[in-house]
Amino acid sequence: MRYAETGFNLEVDLTRGNIERVATDPRETELYLGGLGTNAKILWDRVPPEVEAFSPDNLLIFAAGLLCGTSATGCNRTIVSTISPQTRLMAFSMMGGFWAPELKFAGYDKVIFRGKSPKLVYLWINNDKVQIRDASHLQGKGAIETEELIRQELNEPRTQVAAIGLAGENRVYFASIEQGHSSASRGGIGAVMGDKGLKAIAVRGTGDINIARPDEFLELCNEVLEYIKVRKEKPIPGVMPILAGLGSPQEMKIHDEKWHTESFMWGNSRHRRRDFWTEEVEKAWTETMENARKRLISCYNCSLECAATISMPGVKTYMMKCFSKLTYTMAAMSDLDFGLKIAQRATEYGVDAFSTPQVMAFALELYENGILTDDDMPGLPAANEERFYWLLDRIVRREGIGDVLANGTYWAAKEIGKGAEEYAHNTIKKQEQLPLKLSMLNPIYFLMYSTGEKINITQIEGQFPQMPFPTREEREEFVKDWCQVPDEKFKQYFLDWELRGENSFPYYPTVHMCCDIVDWQEKMHYIDDALGMCSGLSAFPLKPPYHIHNFPKFISSGAGIDMDEAKLTQATKRYRTLVRAVNIRRGMRRKDEKPPENHWKKRFPELEKKLLDEYYKLKGWNKEGIPTKESLHELGLDYVSEDFIQRGILEASSKTEKK
Ligand code: SF4
Repeated sequence: MRYAETGFNLEVDLTRGNIERVATDPRETELYLGGLGTNAKILWDRVPPEVEAFSPDNLLIFAAGLLCGTSATGCNRTIVSTISPQTRLMAFSMMGGFWAPELKFAGYDKVIFRGKSPKLVYLWINNDKVQIRDASHLQGKGAIETEELIRQELNEPRTQVAAIGLAGENRVYFASIEQGHSSASRGGIGAVMGDKGLKAIAVRGTGDINIARPDEFLELCNEVLEYIKVRKEKPIPGVMPILAGLGSPQEMKIHDEKWHTESFMWGNSRHRRRDFWTEEVEKAWTETMENARKRLISCYNCSLECAATISMPGVKTYMMKCFSKLTYTMAAMSDLDFGLKIAQRATEYGVDAFSTPQVMAFALELYENGILTDDDMPGLPAANEERFYWLLDRIVRREGIGDVLANGTYWAAKEIGKGAEEYAHNTIKKQEQLPLKLSMLNPIYFLMYSTGEKINITQIEGQFPQMPFPTREEREEFVKDWCQVPDEKFKQYFLDWELRGENSFPYYPTVHMCCDIVDWQEKMHYIDDALGMCSGLSAFPLKPPYHIHNFPKFISSGAGIDMDEAKLTQATKRYRTLVRAVNIRRGMRRKDEKPPENHWKKRFPELEKKLLDEYYKLKGWNKEGIPTKESLHELGLDYVSEDFIQRGILEASSKTEKK
């Protein structure tokens, strides 16, 4: 019997219209866990580097994490993996909501799509009955509208639907997949779904999930619930509001936006407004939010209420999550009212709320500087906010200049030329990042930005405080109940960290400490993505309920896999290395691992070089960031080094790369 997982995947060939239920190998779960881990293995095995994002041979994998659908609170993530049209690397975006548990209840761990449907279709999974259905009547419909229409059509109100909007249908490189109040947004995975002619996946499941040792598992779940209560009553003092509590950036609950509005950049990631958050703004924004927010909502089996239904005058009520509350407002240098309105249209279109506002602000900056002209933008409205709606409509339809912008700032700048590349100044590995431009190099963030393959900083950071606390007393207080640390040394790292002087940025934390911290943070996110855990309860916040000490117990008692901290660390390292291997095979090298040039004003090239050298060494990668033969062997990934040798990426007799 299989525990926690169902032991079956659905393989759907959209070209032939063929559907197969395929039993999976339990040894793969032991080696790579589930979710992202086994997705990486499938992409490695079945999608060679010659396959492009929009090739029928590219796979699009929807995976429920290993513990999704169990009683572990907050374990509800769907991990979607494919090759990204934007980065040309592996994309592994994930979404919360209710979809992944429903897939498990229907009896499957993953749905793997290959090929392309000749006409627009959707997949209907109703327990063991699975059908490809015509979706031509849904063409051009909004993502959320599609969810509703499919539920009505099937007469199954409890069906969970993941859908794309117009952006996905038109292969916009930053198209998302939407599902209720959640979305898988990064890497343009919605564009791959559109390219495959797949409008939506509807799923209804009524089965059960087996748990290996239910009593033990439930006890662990209860401990987590108790701890969440404690953390609710005891927010962490001295940190910004969204870090004081648990949950995925709880923008819907929090009205104090001083930190974001004054620290992040506005416009095309250009203007910092240090005195923006006045009493007057706070009052006006609080009022807007209180009026707009009708109800706080949660994902499956969670009480944290990170999302909300938003109702703005003249706009259909919709569900919003996280930081999309501010991204449109800040890109347009406008106010919250505008941001909440345009986000509704953007959600229906199905676009990434991090990239899209930046692409539009980039276009307008090019226009202001004469690089794009009235010939490129005929009919561009005069009013600022109207311009954003105008651009959004054209991008998702790929009309005129919208067709160029739909490829994101990196590719659009290349196509536009005339110096446009100078304005596409906020990308890493070809994808837009949070609009942050800061002063002094932060060595921890330097490493995370450079080496992260999730290409989304909020999905790499967490666990270790972002800044030192001002006094030693405050730091001592913080470390007292810091049970989540994998090693006591992290407490000392933090205790000795000062705002100024010898033990401050950029040389403290030292190179060695930075490597340890980033490795820990990254590991936790990768564990979340294999188990299907929401990072808002694990990798992202300070002092979360799930951590390296209790995760092995959840896996042992839930999935029946013999697990301890060392084994979990090793398994995570294995599939994390496999993600890197997929990308290395696609040409990613050290030259690609860098934050935007202007991310910090004060840079330290020697230190940055040392940071990368040391981190690569810690990870078992050579100077180019390529996993070495030795490290691959230690992880049981000899098949990767054999492939690397065959392709000339590694030398047969040495651990160094050939080219
Ligand atoms: S913490 Fe928030 S985002 Fe995470 S599962 Fe719970 S409600 Fe969803």
